[in-house]
Amino acid sequence: MNSDELKQRDLKVLWHPCTQMKDHETLPMIPIRRGEGVWLEDFEGNRYIDAISSWWVNLFGHANPKINAAVKAQLDELEHVLLAGFSHEPIIQLSEQLVAITPPGLTRAFYADNGSSAVEVALKMSYHYWLNSGQPEKKQFVCLSNSYHGETLGTLAVGDVALYKETYEPLLMKSIVVPGPDCYQREDDETCREVAIRQFEHMEKILAEQGDQIAAVIVEPLVQCAGNMRMYDPVYLELLRAACDRYNVHLIADEIAVGFGRTGTMFACEQADISPDFMCLSKGLTGGYLPLSVVMTHEHIYDAFYDDYENLTAFLHSHSYTGNPLACSAALATLQIFTNENVIKSNQKLIEKMADSTRHLEAHPHVSEVRQTGMILAIEMVKDKATKTAFDWRERRGIRVYQHALSQGALLRPLGNVIYFMPPYIITEAQIETLASIATEGIEIATKT
Ligand code: PMP
Repeated sequence: MNSDELKQRDLKVLWHPCTQMKDHETLPMIPIRRGEGVWLEDFEGNRYIDAISSWWVNLFGHANPKINAAVKAQLDELEHVLLAGFSHEPIIQLSEQLVAITPPGLTRAFYADNGSSAVEVALKMSYHYWLNSGQPEKKQFVCLSNSYHGETLGTLAVGDVALYKETYEPLLMKSIVVPGPDCYQREDDETCREVAIRQFEHMEKILAEQGDQIAAVIVEPLVQCAGNMRMYDPVYLELLRAACDRYNVHLIADEIAVGFGRTGTMFACEQADISPDFMCLSKGLTGGYLPLSVVMTHEHIYDAFYDDYENLTAFLHSHSYTGNPLACSAALATLQIFTNENVIKSNQKLIEKMADSTRHLEAHPHVSEVRQTGMILAIEMVKDKATKTAFDWRERRGIRVYQHALSQGALLRPLGNVIYFMPPYIITEAQIETLASIATEGIEIATKT
């Protein structure tokens, strides 16, 4: 099959996600023929290191033999069955294992089939819990500035990235956006911990004033990924957990992007030693194979819905592909790799390598920060380093790095002017080195005049 022909056919019938389609008049779209390990290969035989894990989903490489085998075996047994009134072994096993590995108290698993849907479930469940518990006035949601929880109307409403939200603002429910703990905003002599403690005062104030009308606070623990990979200190989560308890407000941890080892621990909440009331998981849950998401919650939340049918307290939410067995088999194989290969520990070397190979960029005149939390490393390009003045977004300098990287065999899709690595965990130290030099050259090219 010829690549040019595929591109032409694609452009006649497809409308791609998160894309100004007119860009494809000048920017190449790349049909991919096959994937193997960190590599994606196009129809001309060019190979690209998937440095962003295909939108942060892939954990153990493309066409991973173990996950492939698990999905193939499941395919011959049961491809799908509805989850209302029916069940299947992969989902029971997966739920047992998720209860065992997520923070204490998260004993119930409610499934959906993508990240946004999981967030919608958590928001609805939180509100509904308070309703069932005789507190219908608790119906507000609090989120952090620069937060992102998906792109359905409900999740946009609890997000704060203008690029995605602003257009649809008139359609959205109102939520309370509180200035967040992003460490990029620190003063010269401040630590990330100090920023987090200082910024928490905003949250404390809102919870103290309006806690009786608030159902839940939703956060992305430690890294606001879609919000340009901004990072914050775990102390914020500790303070938030304590305040949510004090003001009787739920805490929703959206670990859709940061779960499954991305921040260095299996779940980001572990670094603050907290357990949220709801934990949303997706992306890495299936190792990047198939769409699946889950909301983990506590027994007392579950109990508030458990009653005679006539009392109409049930959580009547569903998606057709909820808990798909093929996706569950991929998830089980993924969890097995974590255990068998002691992944969290062995990632430590990769984490150090990512830091070492990019450290020199801190001195670059157009890099304001190289920041890292575990397996996520981000490099922020700016016009003026001293004042952290951003480049005009219309200059689209990140795209220049992207194009250079493609020409050198790496997929480094940026977030605005932020270049980041969020690679599959099977990446080698040599491949990290390669990525770092491609990124360095790309930044050099992108920041010249
Ligand atoms: N929450 C977070 C923190 C995310 O990063 C994302 C996806 N980037 C979502 C929710 C939405 O997930 P999905 O794209 O599967 O709807």
